[in-house]
Amino acid sequence: MKYISTRGQAPELTFEDAMLTGLARDGGLYVPAEIPTMSKDEIAALAGLSYEEVAFRVMRPFLGDCFTDEEFRGIIARAYDGFGHAARAPLVQLAPNHFLLELFHGPTLAFKDFAMQLIGQLFETALKRRGESVTIVGATSGDTGSAAIQAFGGLDAVNVFILYPHGRVSEVQRRQMTTPTDANVHALAVDGDFDDCQAALKDMFNDFDFRDEVRLAGVNSINFARVLAQVVYYFTSAVSLGAPERKVSFTVPTGNFGDIFAGFIAKQMGLPIDQLVVATNQNDILHRCLSGQGYHKGETIPSISPSMDIQVSSNFERALFYAYGQDGAAVAQLMDELKSGGFEVSQGAMQALQEHYVSGRCSEEETSATIKSERAASGELLCPHSAIGVKVANEQRETSVPMVTLATAHPAKFPAAVEEASGIHPPLPPRMADLYDRSERVTRIANDLTTLETHIRKHIAH
Ligand SMILES: *Cc1c(COP(=O)(O)O)cnc(C)c1O
Repeated sequence: MKYISTRGQAPELTFEDAMLTGLARDGGLYVPAEIPTMSKDEIAALAGLSYEEVAFRVMRPFLGDCFTDEEFRGIIARAYDGFGHAARAPLVQLAPNHFLLELFHGPTLAFKDFAMQLIGQLFETALKRRGESVTIVGATSGDTGSAAIQAFGGLDAVNVFILYPHGRVSEVQRRQMTTPTDANVHALAVDGDFDDCQAALKDMFNDFDFRDEVRLAGVNSINFARVLAQVVYYFTSAVSLGAPERKVSFTVPTGNFGDIFAGFIAKQMGLPIDQLVVATNQNDILHRCLSGQGYHKGETIPSISPSMDIQVSSNFERALFYAYGQDGAAVAQLMDELKSGGFEVSQGAMQALQEHYVSGRCSEEETSATIKSERAASGELLCPHSAIGVKVANEQRETSVPMVTLATAHPAKFPAAVEEASGIHPPLPPRMADLYDRSERVTRIANDLTTLETHIRKHIAH
């Protein structure tokens, strides 16, 4: 199993090397050269299995011979051990044929724990075997960073630096990043927005001297291992609703396009997915693009769903790669045009995109209204991101096909917005009830590449 870059100019790598490398050296993102498939019988056989066993069967073919079966089973077991729900990703019903996939029972109450906990264990196992260490730098709009700090804190072979936009993450998100006491994890509050953090991270990866010196590794959603971890819950939920005999649709609150792209992979593997619905907030570059208006950057407007406040959606490059028939040169050209503001999608590629994805947008008012109305209709208290999913799902779903909306975070992670909309203050689960009492540790830092690189060099424990 080989991994290739979406821009076609980087060396082919194994799963493990692609995972440890993150961004490809040509600026592209790694994808499997061929997507493995599962037969109808193999999918049917997943019914009734534990989350961990489904995870093993779905992900195993992507790993090649990088990990032994025994190693990989241990990795999966440790990754999901700390979750607060025996089903890991339980499905609850909202309305006839509309289901909510609760992805917020991990240590930081957002779906990113599914990928980050796994990748933490994968890194630890691979690096220990190699006798190596790496520096992980991540950019976050809130949830990736907290998940990474929780997943990597205390590991020997890894230093972690998380860049988040100062003042633009929720208090729970911030505290989940600033309160862990492990010496190898560092929260950096950058003066800028999420796109600035993401751009700084890309610049570090493109500074090859720095990249090699600190042995830079990435765990942002550009890392294919993260996408892979998210493929699993498409299988567990679809199978419990009758797949492969019955088609299932999904609506995904989308920012960086990682989670929905995992749905695309699941579909390519053979899972009978009918619709993949991209739900955006007012930062709707993806909705505009999928509606045929080209891909043009706008201003990022802060919203009550901050984890989706994104204008440049990094994993969309992967979707484009497939829409353009795996033409790396075409993707490289588009990404070049994006530097000066945006690009138009060719007619053929647009058709290919629309064959797989539909989209919808949800305003701030509609987000709050959905939190309130869903509470009244089903009793479910939604976080703002999940509410965006539910609103768009209700517009798009057909009564004949079950719709699964991904609930990407726990309402207690965004208590202010939830309370304002519903009048209910969502309590933290008891296992993290003392979060507001722990002391914080954070460095406020300028949005400047040299300043950031100097800080990281200085704080790597040698
Ligand atoms: C990260 C995140 C999203 C967006 O997911 P992508 O994979 O970036 O599209 C949505 N909701 C929440 C709560 C998140 O943390």
